[in-house]
Amino acid sequence: MVIALRIEVKGLSKTYEGGVTALRPTDLEIGDGVFALLGPNGSGKTTFMRMLATLLEPTEGTALIDGHDIRRDRQGIRRLLGYLPQDFGLYPTLTVEEQLDYMALLSEIADRAARQAAVVRVIEQANLGDFRKRRVGELSGGMRQRLGIAQALLKEPQLLIIDEPTSGLDPEERIRIRSLLAELGGDRVVILSTHIVADVEATADSLVILRLGEVLFTGTIEELLARTRGRVWMCEVPRERLHEMKEQYVFTGVYRAGDRMRIRVVGEGVDGVPAEAAEPALEDAYLDVMAVAESAAGEP
Ligand code: ADP
Repeated sequence: MVIALRIEVKGLSKTYEGGVTALRPTDLEIGDGVFALLGPNGSGKTTFMRMLATLLEPTEGTALIDGHDIRRDRQGIRRLLGYLPQDFGLYPTLTVEEQLDYMALLSEIADRAARQAAVVRVIEQANLGDFRKRRVGELSGGMRQRLGIAQALLKEPQLLIIDEPTSGLDPEERIRIRSLLAELGGDRVVILSTHIVADVEATADSLVILRLGEVLFTGTIEELLARTRGRVWMCEVPRERLHEMKEQYVFTGVYRAGDRMRIRVVGEGVDGVPAEAAEPALEDAYLDVMAVAESAAGEP
């Protein structure tokens, strides 16, 4: 399915009252598939998403979603949009089906038959079929997240924005949510935020890397990897050199190799130790981008 929806972010920024700049002026374009906002806590991901979802007023700039301006046309945007915040309220005593029916009513799907059809559809889309009679209070973290996603899909949004969808989940649930998001990205634009590189690897087509409200990278996963190609090294050092090397290089992996240590670093190269080049993984590329920004900012 071809998706026409495009998001153009133009000089968008946010400074909260009190002076914290959560997003510096940002320009970017978001197209089809799954788009990830990757960055540590406090890097501005939620702020960015809330502005796109028209829940937070920008300080400067704007964004156009399918031509609708987030500052001028909230109604137009809300018709296109399903938004799932990190913490969302559920009714523990309702069943999954009842909760969805109630949410459908709140989202103004007034006609009973249309509501029922929407509930059946989202239960299937979120793979909740076996849990439709389960009480919401008895659901695991992953199932609750799935229910949240189902809710966000009730009005068949062309754009789904989900804040930290894998946060607090155990590894198996995390994998299931990732595959659900990747699947959903086939039919609509999905924007998700995460601080976990593996989430991006498993779901996203393109991404932005944010740090302290600044965009450090934007592009496809392949472009990010290409940037780091030739900057990843493996070498073996005696254990006692590990500490000193850590001060000097950006480590992306440390492994035991008998009585020595095998280390993986990103950067220009390694001095005084034989090092072989390695193919970059996304984690290397992310840590490289972060480390370059930190050293440019004069941080250790
Ligand atoms: P992330 O989602 O990446 O964790 P946020 O967008 O939540 O980042 O926060 C970015 C920065 O903005 C942080 O420094 C945070 O403390 C600050 N911030 C977030 N919300 C508010 C607010 N309502 N008032 C003041 N500062 C805020």
